[in-house]
Amino acid sequence: SIYSDYIKSVIRTVPDWPQPGVNFRDITPVLQNSAAFRKLIDSFVHRYQEMEIDAIAAIDARGFIIGAPLAYELGCSFVPVRKKGKLPFKTISETYTLEYGESTVELHSDAFREGDRILVMDDLIATGGTMLAACKLIERTGGIVVETAAIIDLPELGGSAKIREEGHSVFAACS
Ligand code: 5GP
Repeated sequence: SIYSDYIKSVIRTVPDWPQPGVNFRDITPVLQNSAAFRKLIDSFVHRYQEMEIDAIAAIDARGFIIGAPLAYELGCSFVPVRKKGKLPFKTISETYTLEYGESTVELHSDAFREGDRILVMDDLIATGGTMLAACKLIERTGGIVVETAAIIDLPELGGSAKIREEGHSVFAACS
């Protein structure tokens, strides 16, 4: 759409960061541009306002930036999915493999009630590992993953296809 093309045009690609050969999609210009940021959040509000979302599970750290204003607008809970060792209360964790090594995400064990309808948010889907680990945490607490959402999907990396294979819906504001 005209909105997603506009938001996409504001995202900056930084070549060879954080390592040679990687084209990093930098969303900070979207956050600096109040009109672009508003259009981005509004596009998510428009999609989710009738979906009866009980909570947004937002992924550390750029998922927080879009998840928090969306939770405020939808009038639902905000729940952080954090990198290992950041949450103070009782946690559950999922470890997943990266291109080099592994990573662990955690969730407070009392974050959701059985049957809660959850929207999972991050800034970007690459291999899908982070999003799938978050979905597993949510399902372990008895939550229902209504959809996984991001600003950007990189479909050539296969992540969104993998998430769909696992039975979850995927939405990207611009892909
Ligand atoms: P995945 O687990 O899908 O391979 O990687 C997605 C995770 O890595 C997300 O949490 C995202 O923030 C981060 N990430 C990987 N590549 C990029 C990128 O090019 N731009 C941004 N903004 N985040 C990225």
